[in-house]
Amino acid sequence: MNEYLTDGSKTYRRRRLLSGPWLALAVAAGVSVVAIGLLAAAGLPATLDGSTLMVRLGTTPSDVLELERVAERSGDLLAAKDRRVLRVGGGTAPAITYRGALVPTDAALLPFRAYGIRPGTDIVEPTKTVTRTIEAPVEYRGDGPLETVVRFGRKGVSVTVYGSVSGDVLSSEWVVPARRGIVVRSKGGYATSNGGKVRGTQKLVALTFDDGPDPRYTPAILKILKDNGVKATFFVLSSHAKDQPDLTRRIVAEGHLIANHSRTHRDLTKLKAADLEGEFRRSQEAIASVTGVPPRFFRAPYGITDARVTAEAKRKKLQLVGWEVDSTDWSKPGTATIVKRATPQRNGGMIVLMHDSGGDRRQTVAALPAIIRTYRERGFEFVTVDRFYK
Ligand code: ZN
Repeated sequence: MNEYLTDGSKTYRRRRLLSGPWLALAVAAGVSVVAIGLLAAAGLPATLDGSTLMVRLGTTPSDVLELERVAERSGDLLAAKDRRVLRVGGGTAPAITYRGALVPTDAALLPFRAYGIRPGTDIVEPTKTVTRTIEAPVEYRGDGPLETVVRFGRKGVSVTVYGSVSGDVLSSEWVVPARRGIVVRSKGGYATSNGGKVRGTQKLVALTFDDGPDPRYTPAILKILKDNGVKATFFVLSSHAKDQPDLTRRIVAEGHLIANHSRTHRDLTKLKAADLEGEFRRSQEAIASVTGVPPRFFRAPYGITDARVTAEAKRKKLQLVGWEVDSTDWSKPGTATIVKRATPQRNGGMIVLMHDSGGDRRQTVAALPAIIRTYRERGFEFVTVDRFYK
């Protein structure tokens, strides 16, 4: 420390020993240095929840919270379903407080202070919601290459809520219940052709489509018919008509004839009397409820009829309709074969059997334009089946 003194004319500078307040300051500084040194090395005491805590320079609550006896005061992770402990210490961490206030986790702790601990709290595991779409289950009945959809299935949608840690199922609900589809398999080929009783030698042809309506194929067939100005006859299953009311009404609106092909496509000759009557009555009622008009024509599933079926149809004032030409599209023989078989070299009226449902009908759709073209080239007129029964 330098001091300037004036003694007469001579001015000189001299170094003095520390004394008085400067000494005290120096001592304090020395103590501070020692204190800081201690603080940096061994630490100075503070208290934490009544216990001694050695606080070093730069010690933060984060450091303290790692101490075992503090960590034990963490909350637990609980299951959402029953609040059981999933993970000890999996809740929120405890916090350090000073005079009741939280000390930020990155703030430096100071010696000689009395800190407290605020325990952590339990956390309930989060939940996750999973939406699943389940394909419609399909039940196959019988055996054989001919498949007829008796009832369309429907995809189901379920919503399940899980505990995201425990995997517990908290709730599971079908928001759209799946519906089982039913497909009847039968031996190839229709058993009989009971004939359309087509009269005359006029060049008339009636294209008929069985087993629909089917949202996969019927619209494509309707478009081809419309593009070509052709009216056709659709022998619908009443179960499908009920499932597809708009499509059924569209068939009517576009000028085609709706006819009855039973309710569930069973072999009618195998039904008990009451069931046989019910099959006719219920299918007629169902189709009428969709289109507004009960059909006048009926084609037996598989073309199989007997005296009982014929008699019941007559009681219901239904005209049984068979076919003259089987396109065999049901066996999926290839588009070219379907065209060939659907257009045999014959004169006079004929009813052609085709399908717009009951399996994969892409070949039928693909064959239709050529079938129409072939009949047109031969000078045929396209009619609906009622034309043959006037
Ligand atoms: Zn059929």
